[in-house]
Amino acid sequence: MLPMVAQRANFLFGGFPLERGSTFILYVDIHDVHLTIADVIQDDTWVLGRLYTQHPSPIVKAICGTPVCLNGRIQDGFTWKGNLDVCHDAAPTRSLLHNRGMLDTNNCPRCLNSSESIMHCFRDCPFVKHLWLALGFDNINFYLGNSLATWLRQGAFGANNHLFSAALLWIWCARNSLCMENEIIYIFFLKVKIYNLTALIRSVFSSTLSTDIGGRYVTWHPEESMAVVLNVDGNGFGNFGISGFGGVVCRNDGSWLYWFAGNAGISTIIHVELSALYYGLKAAWDREYMDVICYFDSTLPIQLVSTMMNPSHHYAAIISNVQDLLQWSWNIQLKHFVRETNSSADFIAKLGAASSDIWREFLEPSEGLLPLLQADAQQEMHYRD
Ligand SMILES: [Zn+2]
Repeated sequence: MLPMVAQRANFLFGGFPLERGSTFILYVDIHDVHLTIADVIQDDTWVLGRLYTQHPSPIVKAICGTPVCLNGRIQDGFTWKGNLDVCHDAAPTRSLLHNRGMLDTNNCPRCLNSSESIMHCFRDCPFVKHLWLALGFDNINFYLGNSLATWLRQGAFGANNHLFSAALLWIWCARNSLCMENEIIYIFFLKVKIYNLTALIRSVFSSTLSTDIGGRYVTWHPEESMAVVLNVDGNGFGNFGISGFGGVVCRNDGSWLYWFAGNAGISTIIHVELSALYYGLKAAWDREYMDVICYFDSTLPIQLVSTMMNPSHHYAAIISNVQDLLQWSWNIQLKHFVRETNSSADFIAKLGAASSDIWREFLEPSEGLLPLLQADAQQEMHYRD
C-alpha cells in the first residue's frame, strides 16, 4: 500500500511503486528521473501517460490497482502502519539489522550479553524478564518455547491480555529510547506507564463501562430539512484484509438518488472508513448537492476529521482531504448513527470489497440493494440490543 503521505518522494527511486518491479525495467528515460509520485497522479488517479519510460504491463496494472490519496499540505514521512511486523519476525532488532549488514553488532543494548533476537528483546533479556515478573507473569510456561507467534497469541488471548499488550508496547518503546536517545527508562517508571496503558485499554474494550440502555428499536433517519442524506460505510475482512467502501445517497424522504462503491485493496478498517467518507463527500460535491447530511456508523473517522489533524497520522492525507472538503462552501453535517440503520451502506461496502473497481458510481440500485432501500424509506424498525 502506498504510504498515504508520500507525494514528493521520487516515483522511480523513492521506494514505491517499483520497489520490486524496477528490476524488470531495462531502461529508464532521463525525463522520468526526477518525477515525484505527485507528478503522475491527478485527482487521486494515476496518470501514467506522463511517463516516458516503458513499463511492463503487470507493473502498470499493479500501479493502477493501487488506490492513492494525496494532500499538498502533508509532508512526506514514514509512519507506523500498525501492521504485524513483529509477528513476521521483522521488528528491527539488532540481530535483524546485523544480519542485513546495517549494524556492526547484534548485542542486546540492555544486557550487552546476548544477541538481540525478537524473543530476547521482548521476553528473554534479563532486564525484560525482571519486568515481566514484576508485572506478575510468574508462570514458568510464559518463558518456555521459542515460537514468537505462539507466545504472542497466548499472551493476546490470555487472562492478562490487556496487561500483556501494554507491556509489549512499552518494552519496545523503552528499548528504542535506549538505542536512539541513550535514555534509560527504569522498571518502576515502566510499570507505571504499563499499568496506565492497561487501564486505558481496559476502559476502551470493557463492556462493563459502556452505557447499557437495554434493547430498543431504531429506524432509518428521514430528514425534515431538504438536505440529501448520504449513508457511507467501510467494510474489511479484519485489519489488513480485502477491504471496500461504499455509500448511498437519498433524498430526505428516503427516495433513491445514486450509490457508489470502491475497492480499497488490502487495508485497515479505519482506512476504508475514511475512504468511504472522503469519496462519498466528494461525489456529493461533484453532483452539486449543497446541503448534505452524512451518516456514519463509526465515530472514529468523524472524530479524526473533526479535530486538529496530526500530520504524523498514517492517514493524514486522506484526513486532510476530508477536512478540506468540509471547509468548502456548502452545508455539510457529519452524524453518527447505529449500524442497524446503515444496512444499505454496509451492503454496498461489501460489494465494494468484492469488486475490482477502485471507484464506481451507479444510477440504478442493484438487486440486493433495492429491498434494503425500500425498508429504509418505509422506516422499517430494527431491534438493537
Ligand atoms: Zn538483553
